[in-house]
Amino acid sequence: MGKSSKDKRDAYYRLAKEQGWRARSAFKLLQLDEEFDLFEGVTRVVDLCAAPGSWSQVLSRVLIQGQRVGRAAWEDKRYKELLRLRQAGAISEADAVEAPPEARPRKDVKIVAIDLQPMSPLEGITCLKADITHPSTIPLLLKALDPDYDSSSTSIEASHPVDLVLSDGAPDVTGLHDLDIYVQSQLLWAALNLALCVLKPGGKFVAKIFRGKDVDLLYAQLKIVFERVTVAKPRSSRASSVEAFIVCTNFRPPMGFKASLDNPLGAGRKLQHSEDISAARTKPYRKVREDGITELELGSDSENEQDPGQQDIRWIAPFLACGDLSAFDADASHKLPEGHVSLDPVQPPTAPPYRRALEERRKMGGAYGKTKLGGGVE
Ligand code: SAM
Repeated sequence: MGKSSKDKRDAYYRLAKEQGWRARSAFKLLQLDEEFDLFEGVTRVVDLCAAPGSWSQVLSRVLIQGQRVGRAAWEDKRYKELLRLRQAGAISEADAVEAPPEARPRKDVKIVAIDLQPMSPLEGITCLKADITHPSTIPLLLKALDPDYDSSSTSIEASHPVDLVLSDGAPDVTGLHDLDIYVQSQLLWAALNLALCVLKPGGKFVAKIFRGKDVDLLYAQLKIVFERVTVAKPRSSRASSVEAFIVCTNFRPPMGFKASLDNPLGAGRKLQHSEDISAARTKPYRKVREDGITELELGSDSENEQDPGQQDIRWIAPFLACGDLSAFDADASHKLPEGHVSLDPVQPPTAPPYRRALEERRKMGGAYGKTKLGGGVE
């Protein structure tokens, strides 16, 4: 498929190139921010599964360069519209139209981006090439957040915690839905584990999920450590895809909770007894032991599947479609603007996993022999 045809089929692919984003995923974060004001008061962020780097670009433009994008851009647009209505006499002169604040770079910004793939550098952002599912990544991240962190330390709690952890992690999908959902959930679990080590109380966690059969169990588990958990679907995420994002706000680790490598999520024993189950209903999912440590009651196993009490552990998160209604529909083809010139991707992948396959095909001069290494804006 030619670039022009893809520009037509995918408005966000075209817009990403026009606005200088490395991937169309940038719009997902911007639309999530429109709804949840994610960057309010934020200066320290960890961007997991960050390559090729469009989410890091959004962070850089908002926090480092002080540009008004996402929610702020939406407010600017609304302000202009109110001014126009006032000038047209559609609303009274007396109606208060408050000017949005000026764009300003923030102070003491720290952004750490991690991915398995190498990522082209972005000014002001620390990029790490690491596997988020590997335990050795935790001290690596802590060191990046605080150069004084002693890597031989057994403590894995950040001395300089962060306000926001993002994870857009996705495996190379196989098309076998159950397998893809399973691998994706492992990435999410790893991201949550990292977030538990580095988030400050009140912090936020935003992560990609694939909505599978037991996703409600995951929401209930997240509710243990966050006050609010919402599932969001940005307009730029295709309606036809199982992809969505969980937006968790107000991190409030239970009393006595300590992040740990051996027992990553502090998971306690499973609910076995009816009194535990009724306790979980009234004091959801927490149990304070005699020694004062809070155990988290995480999930079911097959023994308990028949137990009606176990069903109560599930919890349905509110679902929100987000992004301006005037935004492009990700599933529709759109007419290209007059005189449209198709641009090259902003940042082709540095080391795409499919590079070898393409090279082999090219060598053989087969049907795909002329396929260009492109992508980057996916
Ligand atoms: N948010 C990115 C952006 O805006 O450019 C796009 C992320 S892309 C959809 C998913 C990324 O997850 C890929 O770059 C992939 O390398 C990364 N990934 C998958 N498994 C990973 C793992 N175990 N550790 C680190 N990164 C991983």
